[in-house]
Amino acid sequence: MESRLQNLTTENSLLRGEIEKLNKLCQSRPTSDCNLTPTDVSTKTSYADAIAKNSQQTVIVKPKDQEQPINKTKSDILSKINPVESSLNIGKVKNLKEGSVLLGCDDVSKFKQLSETNKLYNDYDIKVVKTLRPRIRIAGISDSVDENNILKYLVKQNEIIFDKDSEYKLLIKFSKIKNNEDRFQVLVEVDVSTYKRALSLGHCLIGLDGCSIYSGIGVSRCFQCNGFNHSSSKCNKELSCPKCSDKHKIQDCKAENLCCGNCFNLKRDGKSQDIDTNHAAWDYNSCHAYNLAVNKIKQDVFGLPI
Ligand SMILES: [Zn+2]
Ligand SMILES: [Zn+2]
Ligand SMILES: [Zn+2]
Repeated sequence: MESRLQNLTTENSLLRGEIEKLNKLCQSRPTSDCNLTPTDVSTKTSYADAIAKNSQQTVIVKPKDQEQPINKTKSDILSKINPVESSLNIGKVKNLKEGSVLLGCDDVSKFKQLSETNKLYNDYDIKVVKTLRPRIRIAGISDSVDENNILKYLVKQNEIIFDKDSEYKLLIKFSKIKNNEDRFQVLVEVDVSTYKRALSLGHCLIGLDGCSIYSGIGVSRCFQCNGFNHSSSKCNKELSCPKCSDKHKIQDCKAENLCCGNCFNLKRDGKSQDIDTNHAAWDYNSCHAYNLAVNKIKQDVFGLPI
């Protein structure tokens, strides 16, 4: 559990890098987030604004006739569901393969209901895209706080972040912060609106402790195979050295040249040709495979890539 949070800590630093890229107006700033310094609110607001456009729910409308041109799908949707009068607020449209269209809207259950009433289902399969919940990491809690009261304090003491519609779930209770033995952090899963408010503000009160809030969205890397988003305890793949990608532990590595196994596999499978494999698997700044995984998780959380 602790190593998972340490991974998240590292990944959070990297995501912060992405936030910086998003905010071109913001000057460069330190990426370490373990020292509990308050974070730059303007940067976070900018990030929150960026994701706001992507926080809609998404549906895929797939024609039963897969030879059908995409414009036929679109005109059928338009004839059955009026994007203006339905008040669905269709905000995103993406063309997919086989005549399918992906739509972002405010209320997918209403979209499904209208599809049923207006018989769009006769010629189409309509699938709601399952999105993951964003997570926030709250750091700086002292042991004066009973860990069973954390959620109560969080929600009741921070009403500027948590309102009556907020959804939340504690994923990881107390975990130590690296280099700061007296302070703890927790990981909380929240809905998208609460996530945006939390990151815009950047801090909260837990009991009598002022805490910092960070994005808890990240990609973890397996210590056995270096693959993403699973842990080594659940890994059934072969051992791979993070430094050279051969089948030995890092402690036994004598390689002089670096080779990232994740990027090597992408290249081998023809998914990405012009990518550099000459880095270690932990070098996320250089790793194309890691960046693809980050984009994928953003897509799963916010519906569409940023
Ligand atoms: Zn693995
Ligand atoms: Zn090696
Ligand atoms: Zn790589």
